[in-house]
Order: sequence, then structure tokens, then C-alpha cells
Amino acid sequence: MKVFKFGGASVKDAAGIKNVYDVLQKAGYQDVLLVVSAMGKTTNALELVIKNYFEKSAELNASVQEIKKYHNQILLDLFEDENHAVFAAVNEHFSDLEYFLAHNKSPNYNFVYDQIVSMGEIISTTILSYYMNFMGIETQWIDVRNFIKTNNNYRDAEVDWELTQKNIATNIKTKSLNITQGFLGSDENNFTTTLGREGSDYTAAIFAYCLNAESVTIWKDVPGVMNADPRYFENASLLNQISYREAIELAFYGATVIHPKTLQPLQKKEIPLHVKSFINPLLKGTVVSKGSTLEPFMPCFIVKREQLLIPLSSIDFSFIMEENISEIFRLFHEFKIKVNLIQNSAISFSVCVEDKFGNFKDLLAILSKTFKVGYNENVTLYTIRHFNDAAAQTVSEGKTVLLKQLGTETMQIVTKEN
Ligand code: ADP
Ligand code: ASP
Ligand code: MG
Repeated sequence: MKVFKFGGASVKDAAGIKNVYDVLQKAGYQDVLLVVSAMGKTTNALELVIKNYFEKSAELNASVQEIKKYHNQILLDLFEDENHAVFAAVNEHFSDLEYFLAHNKSPNYNFVYDQIVSMGEIISTTILSYYMNFMGIETQWIDVRNFIKTNNNYRDAEVDWELTQKNIATNIKTKSLNITQGFLGSDENNFTTTLGREGSDYTAAIFAYCLNAESVTIWKDVPGVMNADPRYFENASLLNQISYREAIELAFYGATVIHPKTLQPLQKKEIPLHVKSFINPLLKGTVVSKGSTLEPFMPCFIVKREQLLIPLSSIDFSFIMEENISEIFRLFHEFKIKVNLIQNSAISFSVCVEDKFGNFKDLLAILSKTFKVGYNENVTLYTIRHFNDAAAQTVSEGKTVLLKQLGTETMQIVTKEN
């Protein structure tokens, strides 16, 4: 079996869904499992519903209606006939959502988040499955929550590999086109869980691992893995072939084209990962596979914006040692602040972090009791794999370099716009 994954950008409107059909015509769809994300920015829109729900906002209903309207327009564009069964099927999912919002009693934010946000994938796969049938391709709609089992760490659930392997190996057999949801799982009480934002690539890898799949293809809006994000680097070029190791490094440092958790299960079974363009499906794209002498021969750039650079030093000139470092890291973990770079000297310690949940000011109050803490907001962290002088020059030109760190293969530079 082959596993294909289509992300939000590939199914953002009716034209996108029709394009998935075209891609399948070209790439083949026998003995294929499709993993599909929520359409376009639906997950963000559902996050707004969750926010409105917890804030008891008057906008709650409007935010749900907005998502309904968006999907309804896609249905009208695809099926035209409003009596088509897909309308009732999608409506039923929205009714489930509305029922949940009206009757839920759980105050657990993360639990509620997963029950609501999962609707995006449930609905997108329903639409896609009906459309493929409409176009004459027989499909099997699979509720991923019956297969991928996780713990109950809602919003960032960990896979129970043993149970998941058992479910997938014994129950996914059909040679037809299987369609399932990315990003979702379920806990031991069968409540929905999610694997972390952007987690659908990882879902594809989980299935591939458990099915001993021939390959995984993630279909993207770019030609493949490039030596830089083409949104930020005009002259980015395609990497034809890279090793698992290189891909893991790139994803780890923030090349968002592949979710970082995707590579490990594939590497364990040496299942090749293809990253291909859904716009030009016949182009080769990038293949990630075993090997150490594969590309890249060129510097690869990864950019993380809106970072915070935090220098900490001891108030009394005492050393910053293991003991304080471990306490500092415990606090970062507790405040859900992600550390992307560390540099330390005898009495000072700098970290470049990402404060996704806006917790830094609270943490600062605690850290300031023990350390002298400064911070520089809105800095950019550049990581260059296989760096050279010209590459370092490219990213630092016209900016103030606040910190630089060199490894054998990787250079990291923190800059601030002048
Ligand atoms: P999906 O639709 O599957 O969620 P993403 O939007 O998460 O896809 O990933 C594709 C995006 O990744 C591209 O649009 C591109 O801007 C970005 N990207 C970041 N780094 C790279 C890179 N090194 N090569 C290609 N694309 C990259
Ligand atoms: N829909 C989810 C998200 O937007 C998962 C994914 O797209 O991979 O985060
Ligand atoms: Mg995505």
C-alpha cells in the first residue's frame, strides 16, 4: 500500500478537491490510503470557536456559521444539486458540533479543544470521500479514531504504538481507495485526541509504519523540500534527494514543509518519503530515503521569526551551573515556552525562545527573583545547515547580529532588523 497525504492548502476550495481527483488519476489510487487535513484554514477557524465558547462570547454562533458557510459553498461548487446526500452527511457533523457546544460540561480546555477542532478533518474527509464516489472512484471512509490510539494528553497526544499497530494491521485490508483524517486519534475512553498542530504528516507516517507501506507521499504547494522556504528566499532551489538524517535536522530546526515527527517512524522501516507538488504531480519532487552521501551540497536556510532572545545572568556574579540551568528549563517547560537555541558562559546564559502562548511576562516575574533578566523581542533566528561565509553574509546583511553559534554543520544567527 502507498500512503498519500493532502494538507489544508491542497483542499482549500472546490478547485483544490477537483485537483486531488486529478492527482489521483495521474499518481494512481489502487491500494492507496489518503490522509487528509481540514480544509484551508478551518483549524484556525475552529480555534476561534473554542475561544468564543470559553469566553461565552456573543460571537460563538456566528463563528460556527462562518465555517458552515465556507464548507457549504465548497459543496455547492462541487455537487450543485442540493439534494445530494453529501449535504445531509456534512450537516450531521455540524449538528454534532452544535450538540457538543450546547451540552458539554467539561471545563477542561484541552479536552474541549480536541472534541471541537477535530470536526475540520471529519468534515473534509467526508466531502472528499463523497466527491471521489461522485466522480466514479469507490472509496472507503475510515474514522481514524478507531485506529490511532493515544494517551489522554489532549492537544499533544502520544501514540500507543502497540494498540495502533494491532488495529491497523488487522482492520485495513481493502484494495480500494481508503480515506482517513490526519491529526486525530482517540484515548482509551474513545474521546478524540489530537497529535499537535500540523500533525497530519505524522499521521501518514504512523499508517505507513503500521502497514509496512511501500512509500509515503506528502503533496504540497511547493515543488518539494527546497534549500529554503520559497516564501522568504527568492532563489530557493529544490533538493532532489535527501537522507532521513538531513530531513530530520531540517524539520527540527523549523523547515515547516515536513512535520518533525514524521521522519522517525519512516526511517525505522526505511520507507521512502516523497514530497511532491500537488500542482505539478508528475514532477519528481524530493525523495527522503536512507543514505549519507545524498544532497544537499548547498547551504540550507531555516527562518524562525518573532523569537525572543533572553540573556540571563546571576545577580551576585555566581556561576550559572547545572542546578540553575535545570531550574530555568523546568520553568520554560512549565510555561510552554519553546527553547530554540542556548548559549552559556560562566555567569550568563542566553536562550532564543518562542512564546506561542504569550506566557513570557509571567515567567519573567519568576525568573527576575533569582536572575538579572533582559529580553529582546521580535528577533529572527536563522539556522544555516552546511553553512559558508556567503550564506552567513546573506542572512545578516543590513541587520544587527545579536548572537552567533557554530557547530560542524550548522550555524545559527539571531538578528534584529535595523
Ligand atoms: P500542508 O498543506 O501540508 O499543511 P504546509 O503549509 O505545512 O503544508 O507546508 C508547505 C509550506 O512549507 C510551503 O508553502 C512553504 O512555504 C513552507 N516551507 C518551509 N520551509 C520549506 C522548505 N525548506 N522547502 C519547501 N517549503 C518550505
Ligand atoms: N488541520 C491541522 C492543523 O491545521 C492538522 C494539519 O493540517 O496537519 O494544524
Ligand atoms: Mg499544514
